[in-house]
Amino acid sequence: MKTFAITTIGCKVNQYESQQIRELLEQLGLNQLETSQLDADLVVINTCCVTRTASAKSRQRIHRVRKSNPDSKIVVCGCLPAIKTGELTNPGKNVQLINHRETIAETLSQIVNGKADAFSSQNLQPKQDTTIKAENSSEIKLKNKLAKQPKLAQLTSFKGHTRAFLKIQDGCDGYCSYCIVPKTRPVISSKSPDAALREAQALADAGHKEIVLTGIFIGAYGQKSVRRKSWPGRQNDKLADLLDEMVKIPNLARIRVSSLEPADVTPRLLDSFAGSCKIMPHLHLSLQSGSNAVLKRMCRQYTADESKEKIELIKNRLDRPAITTDIIVGFPGETDADFEDTVELAKESGFAKMHVFSFSARPGTAAACLPEASPRGEQGTIDNEVIKNRSQILCELDKELGFEFRQQFVGESAEILVENSIGRRKGRSERYFMVELEKSDGNPRQGEVVKVKLIKNTVNGLIGR
Ligand code: SF4
Repeated sequence: MKTFAITTIGCKVNQYESQQIRELLEQLGLNQLETSQLDADLVVINTCCVTRTASAKSRQRIHRVRKSNPDSKIVVCGCLPAIKTGELTNPGKNVQLINHRETIAETLSQIVNGKADAFSSQNLQPKQDTTIKAENSSEIKLKNKLAKQPKLAQLTSFKGHTRAFLKIQDGCDGYCSYCIVPKTRPVISSKSPDAALREAQALADAGHKEIVLTGIFIGAYGQKSVRRKSWPGRQNDKLADLLDEMVKIPNLARIRVSSLEPADVTPRLLDSFAGSCKIMPHLHLSLQSGSNAVLKRMCRQYTADESKEKIELIKNRLDRPAITTDIIVGFPGETDADFEDTVELAKESGFAKMHVFSFSARPGTAAACLPEASPRGEQGTIDNEVIKNRSQILCELDKELGFEFRQQFVGESAEILVENSIGRRKGRSERYFMVELEKSDGNPRQGEVVKVKLIKNTVNGLIGR
């Protein structure tokens, strides 16, 4: 076995893990080929199943790779083979499924060294299990065993990318009612501060000017559970402590925190943000809804009022921060009044960017078991047309709010991290909006941080000089 290719579907954590897999396979002596090259000896498909669409996309990718690489060994890892909802049946003879991601380092080493009983049939059929249940003792034993498996090593570079993602936390036991992640990533772990700092240093040494701290629930960094009620004093300062150390890495220019919940935003954390210009003034809060009733049914660990308070706190402490968010529209039982609460929250907060998702029941989650709409529409599924309209309203609002947010910076300077792009050079500013450079602006190198004057606002971002 001499060559490999990797194809990735899904979130920043999956992208990080694909880079770890790349480094492992390179250390084992294999050379990476582009996925478009058809003759890799080994193809790794890192899958996602966060929604039904993501599962379907992952399955299509497996099918396509099998068709175009009939002689390759194919390893399917990531979230899809980790769940037992019967969505991945009989993927084919030359396909090895990794049901527990903690075993991937060991399994890949065995495959490359020709020792594997891999590609045997035992791993091909995940057992059917379509509901979320409380853990029993054998599941707990298995989790403990998996936690002791040899791990994929820390990264030394994030190949092909300007910004590097650095996973500092994994796993969730939050059981939000719409989310499958506690089933796909049940083992909760955090990188030690020393290991995270060593890795950040290595990534900076490899030339990455910006690191994005990534995880499934970063606010629970250093904790054994994501449930805040299990934390001493219900507060966790470990992320802030890590940030305070990471800013001391001399050749690292920027640190971004990928996603938080409102309750993770504490005065202590904001002290870290305010205390170093290396930490980008950008907080992504996954709010999902502005309605207390909906948040309760989603089993989120905060209320709409708490979201508002925390947004106020951020705005009072930082200079015109970018606050971005994710919103789900059409969650079962979402009334017009609930939706209005979300619209109001968005207007009050002035989000720099809203990612709007239309609710679609994910098999295997509690929300997929909610009853159909009652005659009065309570507690039940929402009509598709209603979801479409609500989504459109929020998407329009997102464009307006984003434009307004950017407008206040016209005439000022910003620093952008230059990205690889076809045509004009562009890059993300500190506050994450995209800045496209004027044509006449020479050719700053990809990966460089350059100072620009913001001269014009457009629907897609700012124009800089
Ligand atoms: S906190 Fe909730 S939404 Fe986030 S990964 Fe855990 S279960 Fe999913």
